[in-house]
Amino acid sequence: MTDIKNNLQTVKDEIALAIERRRKIFDDEVKLVAVTKNHNVEMMREAIDLGVNEIGENRIQEATEKFSSLDRKVKWHLIGHLQTNKVKAAVKIFDLIHSIDSEHLAVAVNRAAKSTEKIQDVLIQVNLAKEESKTGIEIENLDELIKTVESLENLKLRGLMMIAPNYEDVEDCRPLFKKMYELFQDLKQKNSEVKYLSMGMTHDYKIAIEEGANIIRVGTAIFGVRDYQSEMRK
Ligand SMILES: *Cc1c(COP(=O)(O)O)cnc(C)c1O
Repeated sequence: MTDIKNNLQTVKDEIALAIERRRKIFDDEVKLVAVTKNHNVEMMREAIDLGVNEIGENRIQEATEKFSSLDRKVKWHLIGHLQTNKVKAAVKIFDLIHSIDSEHLAVAVNRAAKSTEKIQDVLIQVNLAKEESKTGIEIENLDELIKTVESLENLKLRGLMMIAPNYEDVEDCRPLFKKMYELFQDLKQKNSEVKYLSMGMTHDYKIAIEEGANIIRVGTAIFGVRDYQSEMRK
C-alpha cells in the first residue's frame, strides 16, 4: 500500500528545501496541487485529511464522479486538456482551470461561466517545448490569447501554466522554466490579478520551484505510480 502520509511529508520537505535554494525575488509560498487522477476517492480523502487542500484532475468525467462522492471541502484544479463540449461541467467543478490554450476554448468557458454567473479563474497553458503531442498555445500567439482572455468578462486571468517534456536529464527543463518565469513576470507587471505560475510535476518540481513556480502539480510522488491499464480504459 502506498504510504501517502510519508510521501506527502517527503514532498513537503523537498518543497521547503527547494524554496530555500531559490533566489529571494520569488514569493516564498508554493501551492502543492496533489494530482489524484486515476486514484480513488478513498485515497483523495486520506490525502485531504493529511492536510492537502488543493487537488488536480485531468478528465472531466472522472472529476465529475469524484466531485459528487467526495465529502470533503477542497480546491479543484483542472490540469488536463479541456474540450469545448465539456466546459459546463468544468465550470461547475473547478476553482482554477490551468489549460486555456485557444481563443475558441476561452470563449466557450466564458459563456459557460456567464450562464451560472461565475467568474472563472483561469491560467493560459503555454506550449514552450513545441512538442507536437502537447497542448498549449504557441509562444508566438500568447499575447493575442492573453488579450482575448482579459477581454472576456466572466474569466479572470490568474497566470500561466506549462508542462515540461519528460527529458531524460531533468536539468534540460531548467531553461524552459526560466523562460516561463520571464513570461510570467511580464504578464504580472501588466495585470495585477495575475499571481500564479503553474509548472513542475513529480520528475521536475524541485527545479521548477528553484526557477520561480508557485504552483506545482504532483501525483506520482504522493500517490505512487498510476495504473496504466485503468488510464487506458478511460
Ligand atoms: C498527471 C499530471 C501531473 C502529475 O504528474 P506526476 O508525474 O504524477 O506528478 C501534473 N500535471 C499534469 C498536467 C498532469 O497531467
